[in-house]
Amino acid sequence: MGVGSPSTSRGTGREPGTGRLGYDVIIVGAGGMGTAAATHLAARGQRVLVLERHHLAHDRGSSHGLTRIIRLAYFEHPSYVPLLRRAFELWRALETRAGEPLLHVTGSLDVGASGSQVFEGALRSCQEHDLPHELLTGRALRGRFPAWRIDDEAAAVFQPDGGFLLSERCILAQATQATEAGATVRVEEPVLEWDARGDRVRVRTGRGNYEASQLVLAAGAWMAGLVPGMAALMRPERQVVGWFAIADPERFAPARFPVFVHDAPDAVYYGFPEHGVAGFKIGKYHHRGQAADPDALDRECHPEDEAALRGEVARHFPLANGALVRSAACMFTNTPDEHFIIDRHPGAPAVLIVSPCSGHGFKFCPVIGEIVADLVTRDATAHDISAFRLARFSALR
Ligand SMILES: Cc1cc2nc3c(=O)[nH]c(=O)nc-3n(C[C@H](O)[C@H](O)[C@H](O)COP(=O)(O)OP(=O)(O)OC[C@H]3O[C@@H](n4cnc5c(N)ncnc54)[C@H](O)[C@@H]3O)c2cc1C
Repeated sequence: MGVGSPSTSRGTGREPGTGRLGYDVIIVGAGGMGTAAATHLAARGQRVLVLERHHLAHDRGSSHGLTRIIRLAYFEHPSYVPLLRRAFELWRALETRAGEPLLHVTGSLDVGASGSQVFEGALRSCQEHDLPHELLTGRALRGRFPAWRIDDEAAAVFQPDGGFLLSERCILAQATQATEAGATVRVEEPVLEWDARGDRVRVRTGRGNYEASQLVLAAGAWMAGLVPGMAALMRPERQVVGWFAIADPERFAPARFPVFVHDAPDAVYYGFPEHGVAGFKIGKYHHRGQAADPDALDRECHPEDEAALRGEVARHFPLANGALVRSAACMFTNTPDEHFIIDRHPGAPAVLIVSPCSGHGFKFCPVIGEIVADLVTRDATAHDISAFRLARFSALR
């Protein structure tokens, strides 16, 4: 049976409630990370069960809203660049197998004042990893990408490999490839509890019990509920992105408008060329700073939400300062240092915690899927994930 309906495939899974160990690994969550992990694990011959509380590519978590930025000039830290190089390769491989475009290259701009975290961080990643890039003044930026209005004193890093991913299509492609390789995906089946004893993990849903040798928790904004005691490390936060009507769409076309991160005096914003739906899509990191309950997220776009974005649009993209034509509410899941968590559960070594959101995880999905598959099958990975260990927060737990 296919992805998208509650199903078991390949005949390896135990039917709910029968008590027989039927899987090597159970994955909680079929979002960006869970479907990526399933793809890589199933390709390695693991018997995989994925359990998802909603349907596939739904709009209640962290991966919807059509697009996500992917960029190599990583202002957050240069140590992400090797992972990003591998992510680009794996996205291209996924796209080839899926037979549809998933990654659109536009180039990326990291813009700010000289000395700002975004500009200096992106430049450092380019220099340390020898990435092709150009430095632009505000004046050069306006000349080259005329949708921008920005002061001469601004500074920008242009990196030609950046672009955007079609996030829901990516999730569907990953889920399809996982099931084609033998994984079972069961949707509308929330995991209610799990326990790990010895070399077995047991999971209970509303439909029954499942067992496996290992468990991967990739539940995004719902993680804290699955790993009690770690709520302080995984705080969901409400985000709202908006699409604004454009007066001169030519200037916002993918060929003339790179994806960007703009370190403005009041906040950091990110945006996309027009693609798929009408309008200029823009978001503000940490939006209005609102904690979110993932089961009761306020999805409405209030005047305050629009205002949080409108000022940046009016100041820097005046040709897109038209009506708000679309919006989406979504969630970040923030760690205290905004770096990822990929580690074994300290009290249950058969359980892997994969909660790498903090608002910048999507671009890494396939390489994180590969890392999870390495850890499940070999208990080691060649990728450097030392920065993602839970031990760095030991004082907080
Ligand atoms: C507005 C916004 C903009 C962003 N922009 C970017 C960007 O430009 N570039 C970028 O790289 N990243 C970006 N991010 C971050 C990125 O989207 C996330 O890091 C990524 O989507 C997280 O994937 P995930 O698999 O952890 O979560 P999700 O995709 O939300 O998946 C978690 C899944 O677990 C399921 N689940 C939860 N609990 C249970 C349970 N008990 N039982 C069964 N299933 C369960 C959920 O239903 C969900 O499907 C952005 C995030 C937001 C919100």
